[in-house]
Amino acid sequence: MGTLLMARGMASGACGMAWNIDRAEDVKTIHDAYRAAGSQLITTNSFGGSRFVLDLHGRAADVRALNLAAAQVARAAAGDDAWVLGDVGPCGDFLEPVGDLTENEVREAFRDQIEALLEGGADAILVETMSDPAEMVCGIEAALSCDPDIPVIGTYAFQKTANGEFRTMMGTPVAEAIQRAVDAGAKIVGANCGAALDLDDYVALCKEIAAAAGSAHVIIQPNAGAPRQVDGAALYLATPGEMAETATRLLDAGALIVGGCCGTTPAHLKAIAGALAC
Ligand SMILES: [Zn+2]
Repeated sequence: MGTLLMARGMASGACGMAWNIDRAEDVKTIHDAYRAAGSQLITTNSFGGSRFVLDLHGRAADVRALNLAAAQVARAAAGDDAWVLGDVGPCGDFLEPVGDLTENEVREAFRDQIEALLEGGADAILVETMSDPAEMVCGIEAALSCDPDIPVIGTYAFQKTANGEFRTMMGTPVAEAIQRAVDAGAKIVGANCGAALDLDDYVALCKEIAAAAGSAHVIIQPNAGAPRQVDGAALYLATPGEMAETATRLLDAGALIVGGCCGTTPAHLKAIAGALAC
């Protein structure tokens, strides 16, 4: 979503949530393109939809309106035959003891966001790109407090340490991070995005996550390869064919759901859907 909003002129650092109302046709066109590519699940444009992140843009009072619009425009594109994942990204600050936010504050903020996403027609809640298991747990608990039957998906952004181990940015090992999400009630767990991971890394990570997930299902949404810095911008250059080949390896490694994060376009999803015969 972020990749295509920027391709349509959204400035880096701008309030992407505002597009759900001001540029709703553009957001719908992006969802339509992913549906046409074969995506069976589409993600609402609400990554920065908590009041903490919206406050950075002076829009904290618009949590309900912007998240409601995000879900409605995705629902319109999905119709009855695709899933709408209500997207919840990090609150943008650290919880105690590293930062000042309390778990109660974060849970309440996520709850306000998720209520509006569900009201707008989301079928499931995707708590994504998390680094701190405590924040992940707040997101999962917030979703289940809105609706105890709603499927909740929890995905972390991992990085690789100098000695080749996967950790969240907060330093949490894979097994511990995944276990916390499963214990909190996530039915599907996994990884999205991440720092400087190449496509082979995501396959290795998938195996580790599958080993830790128990009865929960696994979702992996890799970036389109490791980023290359070109003129100060991070470019993700994996081809659709490379992403599709990785997708089949991810299924073999234990994933049930495969998608894409930074740099992934409808062309990549089309190749993935083709390779997986979706
Ligand atoms: Zn990403």
